[in-house]
Amino acid sequence: MQQRAASAPLRAGTVVAIDGPSGSGKSTVAREVARSLGFRYLDTGAMYRALTWLALRRGLDLTDAGALTALAESAELELSTDPDRPGVRVDGTDVTTEIRSEPVTAAVSTTSAVPGVRAEMVRRQREAIRPGDGVVEGRDSGTTVAPDATGKVFLTADPAARAARRGRELAGPALDDAVVAATQEALLRRDTADAGRAASPLTQAPDALVVDATDLTADAVVEQVLAAVRAAGAQRGNA
Ligand code: C5P
Repeated sequence: MQQRAASAPLRAGTVVAIDGPSGSGKSTVAREVARSLGFRYLDTGAMYRALTWLALRRGLDLTDAGALTALAESAELELSTDPDRPGVRVDGTDVTTEIRSEPVTAAVSTTSAVPGVRAEMVRRQREAIRPGDGVVEGRDSGTTVAPDATGKVFLTADPAARAARRGRELAGPALDDAVVAATQEALLRRDTADAGRAASPLTQAPDALVVDATDLTADAVVEQVLAAVRAAGAQRGNA
C-alpha cells in the first residue's frame, strides 16, 4: 500500500463504520484505513464466524435459538484489534483460519440471524470499541453497533467483481472461470440468506457514503474513505 499524506489529527473517540456485502473488499479497506489512521480494527463478521465455529464444534442444533444464545453469552471470544495482526481465539483455541472454512461460511447466516446472538454480539462489539478510536467493519456497524460513528461507508461492488475478489482470496493463482462462477453462486446465496431474514443486518445507514468498488483499486477506495472521515471529523470539530 502507498504512503499516505499526513493531515490534521482527528478528535479522540473517532469511529469509522464500514459495511457492505461479502466480497466487496471491506476487510482490506477497513484494515488499511485503520492502519493509516493508527486506529484499532474490529471485524464483526469474524465474531459471528467464531461463534458459528464453536456451535459446529459442539454439535449444536443450529435451529435451537436458545442454545445458540446461551453459547453466545458464555463463549470466550478473543479478537485481536491490531490491523497488522488479525487473530481470533475461541475458548483459548486459535481459530483464525478455521473460521473461513466452508462449513462455517455455510452456517454463519443461520447463527447470526438469531436475535439473542445478535444482541450479545452487538453488546460485545460496542464494548470493544468503547475505549476510543476504531474502525468497525461488518453489516450493521453504521446502523446498530456505532450509529454515532464519525464516518460511515457502505461499500458495494457488482456480483462478478465480488466473486472475482473472493475467488482470488480462496484460490490464489488457481483462479479460473469455474471457481469464479462457483464463488459467485455461493456469495449470492449468502447475500440472499443475510438479506432475507427477519433481523437483516445489511442495511445501509442513511448518512453513509456509498462507494462502488467495482472499478476501483483498494487504494482508491481507501483514499475516498479517509477523505470522507477527515471531512466528517472537521465538520464535527467545528460544530
Ligand atoms: O463479513 P463476513 O463475510 O466474514 O461475515 C460472515 C457472516 O456473518 C455474514 O454472511 C453474516 O451472516 C454475518 N454477519 C452479520 N452481522 C455482521 C457481520 C457479519 O450478521 N455485522
